[in-house]
Amino acid sequence: MTIPLADDELARLTALRRDLHAHPELGFEEERTASIVAERLAAAGIAVTRGLGRTGVVGTLTTGPGRAVALRADMDALAMPEVGTPPWASTVPGRMHACGHDGHTTMLLGAAERLARARDFTGTVHFVFQPAEEGRGGAKAMVEDGFFERFPVDAAYGLHNMPGLPVDRIAAVPGPQLASSDSWEVVFTGRGSHGAKPHQGRDAVTAAGHFLTQLSIVTARRVDPLEPAVVSACALEAGDFAALNVIPETVRVGGTARAYSAPVRDLLEEEIGRLAQGVAASFGIRADYTFRRRIPPVVNEPACTDIARAAIAAALGPDAVVPAFPPSTAGDDFAEFSARVPGAYVWLGNGPAEEGALHHNGRYDFNDAAIPAGVRFWEEVVRAELAR
Ligand SMILES: [Zn+2]
Ligand SMILES: [Zn+2]
Repeated sequence: MTIPLADDELARLTALRRDLHAHPELGFEEERTASIVAERLAAAGIAVTRGLGRTGVVGTLTTGPGRAVALRADMDALAMPEVGTPPWASTVPGRMHACGHDGHTTMLLGAAERLARARDFTGTVHFVFQPAEEGRGGAKAMVEDGFFERFPVDAAYGLHNMPGLPVDRIAAVPGPQLASSDSWEVVFTGRGSHGAKPHQGRDAVTAAGHFLTQLSIVTARRVDPLEPAVVSACALEAGDFAALNVIPETVRVGGTARAYSAPVRDLLEEEIGRLAQGVAASFGIRADYTFRRRIPPVVNEPACTDIARAAIAAALGPDAVVPAFPPSTAGDDFAEFSARVPGAYVWLGNGPAEEGALHHNGRYDFNDAAIPAGVRFWEEVVRAELAR
């Protein structure tokens, strides 16, 4: 098993976690957080690259030739007020670490410092401190800035805290973990007319109505019943309540699409568009369709999942491995890494949800009791992955 954290080491990491919690920064604004990360990595003798994906930081530790692995932590907070009142509560109005990324940053730094001291592995580890996970595209920004060209890796690992799962338990499950999160939009363009004379125009409003009532066909009749998928219309725009005798020229409809596999994701993109075009054709109007790919699904590769499980067992004992855990309908842009190299994403137990406060709740606070498990897990992932 990994060497347990010394009391003073744990005290320093806990103080760091609370300091980050008190100073939350939104995506691509993580200047203070990134500076702290960069300083601590450098002090540990780790090579530091700043500014990748704007505020991202990569720490690189090489001990010799061999494989290379990326470990990812996210650094950003959310634009919401903190309702809880811990002594380390947010000092910035309307900003809070409500997803535990303060804990993620702390644990990866702790592991980096220990691995830099131990150097008991052969190969390269890139500690990836990613900005803007909360819907702002931080992982994509790092990839577009040349992450994989500048830091070639054989595998990538991610971690998220999970309230409700006991501390010192980590779930590592092969297959889908988080859904893709994409948005789509259809603009129906007909010919506007007097509301009393619909036959003189081409009615886009009624066409949009048909489209909406048929939308569930995509998931009900086209997607494999054994594959989860969600398509929802969430926005609708047409006409004017000050002109209830005017059939407008255009109707705009938009929504979200979620899937747990690349083929189902492709299918949703194709079928929503096909339906829009088909309905438009039957009404003799035009449909302009766009599907914006935002985040791919996070799908754990089996061999990397085995490595993660071996790491959990080495760090915390075999009983710590949680082999089954339900996937989340949320998304995580860690998928930008694990869609390009084999990877695994694990759920780190964060203990009981205090006052029922789950992620993105104003009373949520990362449980510091989970720090040692997260640090030791990261260390063992490096040893297990690079020994392959
Ligand atoms: Zn979140
Ligand atoms: Zn999160």
